[in-house]
Amino acid sequence: MKKTELNSKRLKRERETIELMIRYYCKKNHTENLCNECKELNEYAFARLLNCPFEDSKPVCSNCAVHCYKPEMREKVKNVMRFSGPRMLFRHPYLAVMHLINEKFGKNAILSKN
Ligand SMILES: [Zn+2]
Repeated sequence: MKKTELNSKRLKRERETIELMIRYYCKKNHTENLCNECKELNEYAFARLLNCPFEDSKPVCSNCAVHCYKPEMREKVKNVMRFSGPRMLFRHPYLAVMHLINEKFGKNAILSKN
């Protein structure tokens, strides 16, 4: 059965944080209301969370999303996080945002450039 809701609190929070980041990124770089490209990325991120097999029992997972995002989307979401992450610390709990970024891309993800 295909899931349409996130059951885990942790994933719900992650979902909210990612959406906020994408909206903020788009507003500053593209358009006031989510453009099609960012909408697609947002939906993609949501779909990945829906398919996350770990839910609340997710282990320490610095490699998690790296493995489940396809490369193109991974690059996009990485850009979004690099842009929005540091700027959102003012409006979002610092630890929630930093944890999310570290979890996705490893420590120093914001500072490092591949
Ligand atoms: Zn956009």
